[in-house]
Amino acid sequence: MRKIKAIGLLSGGLDSTLALRIIHDLGIEVLAVHFHTGFCFSGSHRAEGDGSAQGGSSALFTEAEKLGVSVEIVEVSDGYLKVLHHPKYGYGKNVNPCIDCRIYLLEIAGDMMEERGADFVFTGEVLGQRPKSQRLAQLRLIARKSGLEDRLLRPLSAQLLSPTLPEREGWVDRSRLFRFQGRTRKPQMALAAELGIEDYPQPAGGCCLLTDPAYGRKVRDLWERSDKDELGWEDYLILKTGRHLRVNPELKIVVGRNQAENQILAEFGRGSVRIEVEGIPGPLVVLDAQLTDANVLVAARIAARYSDGRDSPEELTVRVENGDEVRHIPVRPYKAEEVEPWVIS
Ligand code: SF4
Repeated sequence: MRKIKAIGLLSGGLDSTLALRIIHDLGIEVLAVHFHTGFCFSGSHRAEGDGSAQGGSSALFTEAEKLGVSVEIVEVSDGYLKVLHHPKYGYGKNVNPCIDCRIYLLEIAGDMMEERGADFVFTGEVLGQRPKSQRLAQLRLIARKSGLEDRLLRPLSAQLLSPTLPEREGWVDRSRLFRFQGRTRKPQMALAAELGIEDYPQPAGGCCLLTDPAYGRKVRDLWERSDKDELGWEDYLILKTGRHLRVNPELKIVVGRNQAENQILAEFGRGSVRIEVEGIPGPLVVLDAQLTDANVLVAARIAARYSDGRDSPEELTVRVENGDEVRHIPVRPYKAEEVEPWVIS
């Protein structure tokens, strides 16, 4: 008899790891797929729509490796900005277009299912775990709009959902699936303990960058002042980097918070102006604005504010490098309360 095959969407969080284990233990041949949208936290994290998204946790690979399941990393960032910019079903609490995101990823999974001769797709989604995107109506909508219909199985909540094709055909035994629902993670943690799965990110941990309120504020600030269709990955990469200050509608300043961020800003910062306090450890500052003397002065005082010389009673010398032109400007650092209203994040 032909072996049944399934594509499993794995984020690296606990739920998708459990889904992988459940389906594998039912004797199904699994191809694990880890989608890379470009908005993953580095290191371990779990996506809101767990199982539909991405992560980067070693847990995913550890468990898959133990089971002898191969994990395919699929780059989907090319089409992802369109999903982010024009979500048909809107955003969650921040700038996370969860429903559209899941439809998009599951469409790709559906194509893979066809190409690889697999029979169904499964995810680690849990009914009601996210009130806005994982209610029954949304789970049905996602199954329908992704084109997977009843070839989409959610093993963790399957017993609360209508039987899918794999269950009706007897490919998977419905009685060995689960009826988890809601925000509590205790049943999943208990199951993990029972199955000997120990290496997973804390269930209450983070999510994809798009669900992060601080990142969301920076994205919204960008959207308010740009044509979304003109934005590219570079614009979003800069938002991941540094402290962002909106001084006025025409002036945004980005301050590196450490050496790594300073390097990214130096490489990708808009324009070629580098502003740094001379002779004192401090950040690299870049401007997203016209290079007027007034704007450069504000940026220089901000650079001084975030340098180790912030409390100096003396003026600090700030080096402003614009291509071949280098200027030295004496400035007083701003006080904390002066810059606070400008901080987006
Ligand atoms: S947008 Fe939502 S579903 Fe997509 S990866 Fe982020 S949290 Fe998960």
